[in-house]
Amino acid sequence: MTNKKGIILTIGNELLMGQTIDTNSAWIARQLQEIGIEIVRRLSVADEATAIFQALQEESARADLIITTGGLGPTSDDITKQVLVDFFHTRLVLHEASLQHVADLLQQRDIPMLERNRAQALIPEGCTVLFNRYGTAPGLWFEAKGRIWIFLPGVPHEMQYLMENEVLPRLKNQWPFLKSIQHRFVITYGQGESRVAERLGDFEATLPVGIKLAYLPGNGLLKLRLTAIDAQLHDSLESTHQQLISLLSDIVIATEDLPYEQIIARKLLTHKASIGLAESCTGGYLAHLFTAHAGSSAYFTGSIVCYAPAVKINVLHVPADSIDRYGIVSEPVARAMAEGARQLLHTDFALAITGWLGPDGGTPEAPIGTIWIAAAHKSQILTHSYKLRGNRNRNLQLAATHALHLLDELIKSIYPHS
Ligand code: AMP
Ligand code: MG
Repeated sequence: MTNKKGIILTIGNELLMGQTIDTNSAWIARQLQEIGIEIVRRLSVADEATAIFQALQEESARADLIITTGGLGPTSDDITKQVLVDFFHTRLVLHEASLQHVADLLQQRDIPMLERNRAQALIPEGCTVLFNRYGTAPGLWFEAKGRIWIFLPGVPHEMQYLMENEVLPRLKNQWPFLKSIQHRFVITYGQGESRVAERLGDFEATLPVGIKLAYLPGNGLLKLRLTAIDAQLHDSLESTHQQLISLLSDIVIATEDLPYEQIIARKLLTHKASIGLAESCTGGYLAHLFTAHAGSSAYFTGSIVCYAPAVKINVLHVPADSIDRYGIVSEPVARAMAEGARQLLHTDFALAITGWLGPDGGTPEAPIGTIWIAAAHKSQILTHSYKLRGNRNRNLQLAATHALHLLDELIKSIYPHS
């Protein structure tokens, strides 16, 4: 049985203007492909009747499923429902259960019911109402013109609630033969995509039919993704993944799709080891990366954000003399920062970084883009410098990746047999 094809249409002027980033369609795409629906197109249109109508008409020919978000709210710019009446040749009727739900929600919030709220319980006749626990706009499900059409509110947490509780179970029920699209990942560090593509020439040429390889570079790492859309290929996907891992073994940092700090977190947890940071140019960004994940208190103790030289000297006991002699961005300073953080924070590992991310700063010895990183353990310390060539934001991301990689190297050296 072939997979079903889906289209995601997001509605809202704010999306076209770039004022709101369309996170809904990315989220929905991931959910749908997990249950085996291939997304063939994602597009956004304005809050405008003809634009919505035309998009529904033109795009639907390509798909078995059309999901939209946005334009179901109580304000005058929310016109999706009116378009549906025209598109499906139906009319709006009062849906009692929805009216009761709107009344209850407003009462809980001590808000009087307005006519425009009552209008939210008007539903196009012939559709299935999807109960929206968290909002006043229900989702709408149509089976018409040989396809499934789903209309969801734009507010992300309401849309997500509806997808998880109403849409996905119904789709699985409707299409029980769907098999999830499988991916396997390999994440590498240290070689660009052209170089890696050169190395993988023969591998790519002999990929089993139906398995695709994608190169996804970002933040100084290269993610390689293998995809098998057809369920029959899952075994061969497994062996292809193993083959890719062994071909690139010298540069592989992970064989799953995880952020680098998570990969390191797992290793720290395995060894019951703790980490503390001394961050100058990254200003707490590395600490944010670690603590953005639940459970980080099991290995992460803290970060000293030592932006000013005085903090490096007074808090971390970096010798003032080293700063004078070698410069604030130098190997001895990074080393002293890491040692200082390890002792102050009482951790097994410490990671320190000092650098010029630009566009200002720099010295003749350490021009803009120079960073020095030190990773310390009681028995060993590694240091490394890099020359970054991006803008400030890109340099921040790259600095974080390089810092994590140096820490990763130190962890491997301390625990060589794992
Ligand atoms: P609406 O359902 O059109 O009234 O949208 C309500 C709010 O949800 C908007 O003001 C946006 O903040 C947000 N929103 C709408 N569409 C999207 C989208 N595609 N991605 C992320 N947020 C969205
Ligand atoms: Mg809107």
